Amino acid sequence: MRYAEVAVNFPGSRSTFCYAIPSQLNVSVGQAVWVPFGSRIVQGIVIELSGQPSVKETREIFNIITTYPLLSTAQIELAQWISQYYLSPLFDAISLMLPPAFERKLVAYFKLVTPQESLPSLTPEQTQVLGLIEEKGKVSLRELEKKLGVRKANQIIGQLLGHHLIMKDQELEKAKVRAKTVPYVRLAAGEAEIQNEIARLKKTGAYKQVALLEFLSKQAQSIPVNEVRKHLDCSYQVIRALESRHLLSIELTSIRRDPLSHLELKPASPPPLTPSQRSVWESLRCVVSGEVRPSQSPPVFLLFGVTGSGKTEVYLRALDRVVAMGKRGICLVPEIALTPQTVERFASRFPGKVGILHSGLSLGEQFDEWQWIKEGNCDVVIGPRSALFAPQPDLGLIIIDEEHEWTYKQEDKSPRYHARDVAIKLAQLNDAVVILGSATPDIDSFHKAQLGKYHLLGLNERVIPYAPCSEEGAAKGVASQPSFGYSPLPRVTIVDSREELKAGNTCLFSRSLLAAMKRALARGEQIILFLNRRGTATFIQCRDCGFVFRCPRCSVALTYHSVEKKLTCHRCHYAVPASRACPQCSSNYFKFLGIGTQKVADEVKRFFPGVRLLRWDRDVTTKKHAHEKLLTSFREHKADILIGTQMIAKGLDLPLVTLAGIISADTGLNLPDYRAGERTFQLLCQVAGRAGRGPKAGEVFIQTYSPENYVIQAAAKHDYVGFYNQEIEYRRLFNYPPFSHFVRMVYTHTNEELCRRGAERIVSVVLSEKESRGITDVSLIGPTPAFVSRLRGRYRWQLILRGHAPTQVLPGITLPPGWTVDVDPVGIV
Ligand code: ADP
Ligand code: ZN
Ligand code: ZN
Repeated sequence: MRYAEVAVNFPGSRSTFCYAIPSQLNVSVGQAVWVPFGSRIVQGIVIELSGQPSVKETREIFNIITTYPLLSTAQIELAQWISQYYLSPLFDAISLMLPPAFERKLVAYFKLVTPQESLPSLTPEQTQVLGLIEEKGKVSLRELEKKLGVRKANQIIGQLLGHHLIMKDQELEKAKVRAKTVPYVRLAAGEAEIQNEIARLKKTGAYKQVALLEFLSKQAQSIPVNEVRKHLDCSYQVIRALESRHLLSIELTSIRRDPLSHLELKPASPPPLTPSQRSVWESLRCVVSGEVRPSQSPPVFLLFGVTGSGKTEVYLRALDRVVAMGKRGICLVPEIALTPQTVERFASRFPGKVGILHSGLSLGEQFDEWQWIKEGNCDVVIGPRSALFAPQPDLGLIIIDEEHEWTYKQEDKSPRYHARDVAIKLAQLNDAVVILGSATPDIDSFHKAQLGKYHLLGLNERVIPYAPCSEEGAAKGVASQPSFGYSPLPRVTIVDSREELKAGNTCLFSRSLLAAMKRALARGEQIILFLNRRGTATFIQCRDCGFVFRCPRCSVALTYHSVEKKLTCHRCHYAVPASRACPQCSSNYFKFLGIGTQKVADEVKRFFPGVRLLRWDRDVTTKKHAHEKLLTSFREHKADILIGTQMIAKGLDLPLVTLAGIISADTGLNLPDYRAGERTFQLLCQVAGRAGRGPKAGEVFIQTYSPENYVIQAAAKHDYVGFYNQEIEYRRLFNYPPFSHFVRMVYTHTNEELCRRGAERIVSVVLSEKESRGITDVSLIGPTPAFVSRLRGRYRWQLILRGHAPTQVLPGITLPPGWTVDVDPVGIV
C-alpha cells in the first residue's frame, strides 16, 4: 500500500493528513484529489508520497481531480515555507498557486438502480419521483428539494433508497469557467468542384457567394467567421447557404481570451545602453548568464535609480538574456492598472510572449491565461503580487519593480505574505536571479544591500530618449545621432504653510505655487496636483459643540461628498445623506475640515476659469481600462491639470508635465507608526519624480506645516541616502525593523469590554509561555486599542511581538477565533 500526505481544502487546517492510495489510482505529488474529511468529501493537493502511513488509521483517497500535477515540487516547497513563516493554513498558501476557479464542491445526485426488481406498491409521490429520475437520468437533491420541499424530498428519497430502487452518487459542481469557442469557416469541397460552383453561381448572379468562395479558396487555414464578414461584408445567411450545400463547413474552435488584445503594439528593438546602464548591465549580465556565481543564494540585485533612470530598460535586457538561455521570467508591478506603460513595453519587446495575471481580468481570461502560461507560452508573466504564483515553467528571473510599494504585502487575508520575501524564497528554490528596482528602496532592502546581502546597483541620471520628432534632438542637430540625453531632476521648493497663513492666504495654493501654475499654463505646459486623500472634505464638524460625524461601525470620521451630498465611510462603504443639523446640539453651523480632490478642483476653477481639468482617484476610476483612458487623454494633452491622490504618484511617464504641486505633505507624516516617515518620503519623491521627465525642466512645490522635518528636507533634495542615514539611526535607537522583527496580532470582537479582556488574556498567555520556555529576546508592545479602534462593527485591540524571531512564542498557543496574526506587517496602524 502507498500513502499520500494531502493538504485539504478545509478552513483552518495547518497540517497535512495521511490517506491510503487505492491501487487503481495513479497519484503523484502536486496532483489534485478528492478525499474524505469528516463526513464530507473535500479537495486536496498531494504534498508527499510514502510507503508508510504517518498515522495508525488512514482512509482512502476517494478519487483524482486532475490527471497531472497542478503544482511543481518547488511550488509545494514554497507553499510549505509560506505556511510556516506566516503561520497560515497550508491550503491557503496552496490556493495562491491553483488555477482560477479551481475550488469546486461535490454535488450529490440520484439515479435508478438497474435492473429494476419487481416494484413494490408505491405511493403516487414515490412514483412521480422515480419517473422524474428515469426521465432525466439523474437528479440532484437540490432539484428535488425545490420541487417537493426539503422535508418531503428527503423523506421520499429515503424510502426509495430503502427499497433499493435508486442509488446515490456524487459529481463535481458545474465549472465556473470553460474554454471560449468561436465559429471558424473553411472550404469543405475539392478545388475543381469549387471552381465549377463559382462559374455556375456567377451565371445566376449570386455574387456574394462567389466572393465568399473566392476569398476562402485563397486562405491556407480556416478563419473566424467574424473576420470573413469584416472582409467581405457578407451576411450570415450567405455562409449558411453554402454550408447547407456542403461547400464549406463551420466549426467551433476554442480560442484564448487574450487580455492584451486591446493594445496596439509596435514591435520595438532595444536602444544602445547609456554609460550608467552599461556598467549596471555588466555586473548583472555575468550573473544572469551564469558565468559568475555570487556567494549568496539566490543572487539578489537592488537596482537603485530615480524614476526615468532606465531601470525598465535593464529589466528588459536581463529578461532577454534569460530567455536566450531557455528560461523564463516573472515581473511584478505594484498595481497593474497603474502600469499600462510597463506592460506595453514588455509586450512590444517580447511580442506575443507576455502573459498577464490579475484579478481585473474576467474569470475566463484568467483561466485561459493560467493554462497558456502553464503550457510554457510566455517569456514573462507580468502582474501584481499574485503573479508570483503563476505556473511559469523554467523560472530564471524574478523582477520586482518599485519594490518598496506596500501593495506587495497581502494584508487583508491569509496568508499575509510579502511578495518580496516570497520571491526570494522562490528564486532560491528555482536557482533563479532576483532584481529589485526602486527610486526609494524599502529601508529594509537598502539595509540588506549595505550589509552585502543584496548587490547594490545604481543608475544616477534620468534618461530622456530622443524620439525622431523630439525638437531638442533635432535642434542639437547631432551628427553622431545619440539616442538619449539626460534631464536634470526637478527643482523642489518647500513652502512653509504657516507663513502663508500669517500673510492672510487661506486658500489651498501658496502664492508661489499659484504663480508657478500661471507660468506653466501660459507656456502651454501640464501640471499635476497631488493630494494624499480623496472626497471633498475629509470630515464635517459642528462649529458650536465640536461634534464630528463618524461611522457607527468603524468609528472613523465620515467623508463628505459634495456631488451626492452624502457622508460615506471609506472603510466599510456605509453612507448616509448629509444632515443639516448637529445631532448633538441642533446647531446648523458646520465647518468642513480637510481637503479632497474635488475641493482642489473647485479652487483651480476659481483661479483659472476655463482650464481643462482631470481628476484621478478611486472614486472616479472604477471601470475597466478607466485608468488607461484617463492617462492617455492626459498624455495627449486633452487636459492641462491632473489632480489626484496616491494613484498619480505611480509609474506614469508624462513628458509634458513641468510642474508638480503637493498640496499638503503633512498628511501621513504624523501617523503613530514607525514607518510614517518612510512612507511619506516615498510618496513625496514619487510625485516630485513626475515633473520634468520630458526635455523641459521641471519644478515641484511641497506645501507643509513642518518644513524643517528631515523627511521633507531630504525629499526636497532628492536625497535618498541622506534620508536613509537618519532613518536607520532612528530605527536602531528604538530597535525597530530592520533591527528586529514585528508580529502584529489583532483581536476583534463586537463587544468592547470582551475585546479588551480577550486581548489581555492572550498577553498573559504569551508572557507565561515566554517564561516557561525561557525565551528572552521577544518583547511585547500592548495590548492597546488599534489605531482604527472599530471596523465594520467590531472593536479592535492589538498586540505587537518584537524580537529576532518573535513567532517562536506562538506555536504552543491556541488563539481563539477573532485573532489575526500578521508576521512582518508593513505598518502597525
Ligand atoms: P525607469 O524604469 O527607471 O523609470 P525607463 O527604463 O522607463 O526608466 O527609462 C526612462 C525613459 O528613457 C523611457 O522612455 C525609456 O524608453 C528611455 N530609455 C531608457 N534607456 C534608454 C537608452 N539606453 N536609450 C534611449 N532611451 C532610453
Ligand atoms: Zn453641535
Ligand atoms: Zn464604516
